[in-house]
Amino acid sequence: MADEKRYEMLWDCSRCDTPKLLGMSHRNCPNCGSPQDQTRRYFPKDEDKVAVEDHPFVGADKACKGCDAPNAASAQFCVCCGASLEGAGPVVVRATQSDQTGGFGADSAKAATDEQRTQKLADRAAKDAPAPAPSRALPMLAGGGILAIIGLVVVLALVFVFWKKDAAVTVSSHAWSREIAVEAFKPVSDSAWKESVPAGARDVACVAAQQSTNKVPDGQDCHKERKDNGDGTFTEAQKCEPKFKDEPVMGQKCSFTVDRWVQARTASAAGTSLTPAPAWPATNIAAGEREGARTEKYTVNFTAGTKSLSCDVAQDKWANVPDGSTWKAPVGVLSGSIDCTAMQPAG
Ligand SMILES: [Zn+2]
Ligand SMILES: [Zn+2]
Repeated sequence: MADEKRYEMLWDCSRCDTPKLLGMSHRNCPNCGSPQDQTRRYFPKDEDKVAVEDHPFVGADKACKGCDAPNAASAQFCVCCGASLEGAGPVVVRATQSDQTGGFGADSAKAATDEQRTQKLADRAAKDAPAPAPSRALPMLAGGGILAIIGLVVVLALVFVFWKKDAAVTVSSHAWSREIAVEAFKPVSDSAWKESVPAGARDVACVAAQQSTNKVPDGQDCHKERKDNGDGTFTEAQKCEPKFKDEPVMGQKCSFTVDRWVQARTASAAGTSLTPAPAWPATNIAAGEREGARTEKYTVNFTAGTKSLSCDVAQDKWANVPDGSTWKAPVGVLSGSIDCTAMQPAG
């Protein structure tokens, strides 16, 4: 990114308390000579920023395994204790700072060490934590009273629905009904957006109204970010994202009258015995009318002990369970409802 600049991180000497030492330029405290403690590097306030000019970035520092001192990525031996840096890992870097919440928050050597301690604890916890074991579900249930209650409710609901016992049921009576919708071609009122008004619409009256919303570009949202480079410097960069705003799209909302087929009346027939056989009602279609959807229903009523039950079934099944015949069917022990699909002739 073009708008990027490198600055020195700061550190405080913990032996002589000299504050605001430079992360890259002061590898040792200029006051007492103590080596830099890389765990105390922090981001400076804007007025304390020191730019890094013409110093190539060679990578994050390596932390000496012997004395923890930070060493340039290109170093072979620790500048502090002379130990070999072979196998030394990179120093821990600070979390990226953002000024999105109105300026960069205050930072300090203490915040740096706190952050590093938290990070180490999190890493250790992640390493020590065993793969999620199934045994975790049980303590959760015991610990979470709400979960236990929900579990109990689910179990009770299942028992209510599924605990059934076969009961002998006797057919007591039959009932059937058949209906035919009769539709008429009639003027109806409706409304639609202008482009969707049907052909043949009359009395069309339109008014302007918001039809939809467009997302249109509305400049940019920018904020600054500071990224710890791990070599005693950080990079400050401007991050921008396009912004959008909602813009109403106007249209013409129209009300109108149009002729359509609509249900005008219902022809129905019903009976309460097997004979005469069910028949469709006469519709007596008049001019400007037509037949619509047909519906039919066949009900068998039973007695089971002192209880009355009923089943809606297909017509052929309905016609083949005579009054007085005995059947076997699962009946809910708690719900008392009959399982009509599992009805069997008794014996
Ligand atoms: Zn010092
Ligand atoms: Zn060392």
